Amino acid sequence: MRPWPGVLQAFADRLPVSDRTPPLSLREGNTPLVPSVSITRDLPEVELYFKWEGANPTGSFKDRGMVVAVAKAAEAGARAVVCASTGNTAASAAAYAARAGLRCLVVLPEGSVATGKLAQARMHGAVVASVPCSFDQALQLVREASERLHIALVNSLNPYRLEGQKTAAFEILDQLGKPPEAVVLPVGNAGNITAYWRGFSEALPPRHRPRMWGVQAEGAAPIVVGRPVEHPQTVASAIRIGKPASWEGAVRAASESGGRIFAVSDEEILHAQARLAREEGLFVEPASAASVAGLLRLAREGVGIRGAVVAVLTGHGLKDPATAERTPQPVRVEPTVEALASLL
Ligand SMILES: *Cc1c(COP(=O)(O)O)cnc(C)c1O
Repeated sequence: MRPWPGVLQAFADRLPVSDRTPPLSLREGNTPLVPSVSITRDLPEVELYFKWEGANPTGSFKDRGMVVAVAKAAEAGARAVVCASTGNTAASAAAYAARAGLRCLVVLPEGSVATGKLAQARMHGAVVASVPCSFDQALQLVREASERLHIALVNSLNPYRLEGQKTAAFEILDQLGKPPEAVVLPVGNAGNITAYWRGFSEALPPRHRPRMWGVQAEGAAPIVVGRPVEHPQTVASAIRIGKPASWEGAVRAASESGGRIFAVSDEEILHAQARLAREEGLFVEPASAASVAGLLRLAREGVGIRGAVVAVLTGHGLKDPATAERTPQPVRVEPTVEALASLL
């Protein structure tokens, strides 16, 4: 078996790359499509699968697009990259910049970044600036900085990001051997849903494309309410965004596919996160659990769902260990078998 080469190499014919693009790779992509063993029982007519994007090198789907964006920045002669981030973009940019020999500047909105993600950016040698503003303001700041300082912007406004991210759709078709009926995924800046729809649209004729269901958190649901949210609030920090950069892409994905964008509560997100961990063996960060929370919500509302459905699990739970604090603490017992037996 030949080793998996990475997104740039595996999908070279479907990405904007050439012989001059550096062969950057951390062996991103090729993530498992894991069948559900438990949650699927709540959805009798559904064959449920999880696209486990936490298995990417830095623990989130962001690596798919980042490898393309950083390789193109290096190809164009950039010496540094910059991004605003709720965390995962920073972790991914820092890792790929390190590997490509570029400097990386990340701008984090103060107080809203999960510890694991910050640790990654720092370990990979990024210069990390924490600014007292929202994500949306931080994004505006780095747009200006990239122009005035001539450094490559690697937020999802960078078109190469979405090009790389669309490869997840190709993998799902390959792994499933058929198009799914529907794909459900969390929506923050809305780049990912836009990218999946692009991937499915490139690969499939219109009537075979899956329905796209995009899930926002109730406290950060600008697309659902139809206007920007000034102070977005949710435990799911990766989707705590009030003014999505790819707003129109998300709306188009939902309407062209016959899907929809809707919102779930933080309580539903945490419940889905706990079920994924305890019943499926998949520890995801809260934002990722929004996909499953959304699916369970649709089922409760009686939306007819049948056939193969893919829930995208966007990022690894270790990035945001604070959620584990809601679970039982370790129990202190004497070092005897009897004491252990009493616990079971
Ligand atoms: C970035 C991110 C999202 C949101 O993706 P968008 O493209 O911004 O909609 C969801 N979950 C995780 C774990 C992320 O890192």
